[in-house]
Amino acid sequence: MLKEINVIGAGLAGSEAAFQLATRGYKINLFDGKAKRKNDIQKTDSFAELVCSNTFRSLSTRNAVGILKKEMQMFNSIVMKAAFANRVDADDALAVDRDLFAKAITDELMQMPNIHFQPSDITKIDFKIPTIIATGPLTTSTLLDEIVAYFGQDNFYYLDASSPILEKDSLDLSYFHYASRHKNDNSYLCYPMDEATFDRFHAELINAETIAIHDIDKEIYFKGCQPIEVMAKESKKILLNGPMSPNNFEFDGVKPYAVLQLRKDDANDQFYNIVGFQTNIKWPEQKRVLQTLAGFENVKIYRYGVLHKNNYINSAKVLNGTLQARAYPNIFFAGQITGVEGYIESAASGIIAALGMADYLERRPSFLNFPDTTVMGSLVNYVTNKKHKDLKPMKANIGLLPTISGTFASRDEKNDAVYERSMADLERFIAKWGLKTPDFGVATSK
Ligand SMILES: Cc1cc2nc3c(=O)[nH]c(=O)nc-3n(C[C@H](O)[C@H](O)[C@H](O)COP(=O)(O)OP(=O)(O)OC[C@H]3O[C@@H](n4cnc5c(N)ncnc54)[C@H](O)[C@@H]3O)c2cc1C
Repeated sequence: MLKEINVIGAGLAGSEAAFQLATRGYKINLFDGKAKRKNDIQKTDSFAELVCSNTFRSLSTRNAVGILKKEMQMFNSIVMKAAFANRVDADDALAVDRDLFAKAITDELMQMPNIHFQPSDITKIDFKIPTIIATGPLTTSTLLDEIVAYFGQDNFYYLDASSPILEKDSLDLSYFHYASRHKNDNSYLCYPMDEATFDRFHAELINAETIAIHDIDKEIYFKGCQPIEVMAKESKKILLNGPMSPNNFEFDGVKPYAVLQLRKDDANDQFYNIVGFQTNIKWPEQKRVLQTLAGFENVKIYRYGVLHKNNYINSAKVLNGTLQARAYPNIFFAGQITGVEGYIESAASGIIAALGMADYLERRPSFLNFPDTTVMGSLVNYVTNKKHKDLKPMKANIGLLPTISGTFASRDEKNDAVYERSMADLERFIAKWGLKTPDFGVATSK
């Protein structure tokens, strides 16, 4: 008889974990309640919904997030396969059509014979059944209370927001240029501003009405996730060096003072999200503020930006290096709830929890820790490191990896060596512990 595992949450981590375990022959009960109740950032019933931007960030293996993708591909990651099959243009980034991406994952998991999906919210953990909890930063409150009761009172949180998505047809494109901030390519819609326009827009941002934040003790933001109006209140310079940077732009011989960059959000080229424009401004105000810009007068907002409290547990205290609960060996955690931060980091942690679960169930000597020279290993070792008393959420980051010895002519050359080391060490690790994921030939075509 197939061994049975519960996976709670069919987000990025839960989908990846369910896939990895199903391909290894386990029977998976996959639960997600959003078909019956959605929170205010969920739009669809699909698994692996991308709730904010549509990018998995850079593909370059000269940075951690690019290396992480290569590592995940070594495990035949379903998230990576679906992402590559449903790409939209975005210079060196892996951006996707969010609906096609999520549909590819949903279709694939739903047709796997040993995955049994149940559209229900879980309120209690069944400790008798091996379980991966992957309910994300917005875990429903009843389950969160249950998690806190068993896994310690010191769960943490930070505030994060999403950016609005606009209907392209509602914009006057004569004010925009197809270009990109970082490279000479034409995949973004760029909106240049002169100084006076920027100043007016900045004033609108800082004076716009925001939604009151209840139920929090402190306004804690994760670095890089501050709402645009919070950045604007801090200084104009933060905007000009960040989401509104005029870097490398010149349009018709004129260098703009500031630039708004809009990223394509779907394969049909109908929707664009504003890069770095996550916000907690009230919905009618979001529209009004944008409408103050020429070319945005008739803007239609397909999805408004919203702010959320993101919860995570103190993994450093309660989980081991396979994301297994130290005190409750049947229970594993995966995704953002462990303290990793980001779509791709969450999905990668789903692979780690699934492999750890398989090892545990087979009662093999467990691998316990991924090599710290890999990005996957460095992330999970970071969030489960007992020394971190006050765990902060963590994105993939070269700084988490051990320094590499040798003399290098440039930082790029050094990062190439870090990449090669990660691939070689991961290959050895997979071979040593028999962790190869069977190639299931995921049907992720558009
Ligand atoms: C507002 C916001 C914006 C974000 N923007 C970005 C971004 O732009 N880029 C980025 O890389 N990351 C972003 N993140 C962070 C993070 O990468 C995502 O939240 C990511 O989806 C986390 O993956 P996950 O699998 O851990 O959780 P999720 O993808 O959230 O999946 C969790 C799933 O569990 C389900 N669930 C919850 N509770 C229960 C329950 N009790 N029973 C059954 N099912 C349950 C949910 O319905 C959901 O489908 C954002 C997060 C938030 C909240």
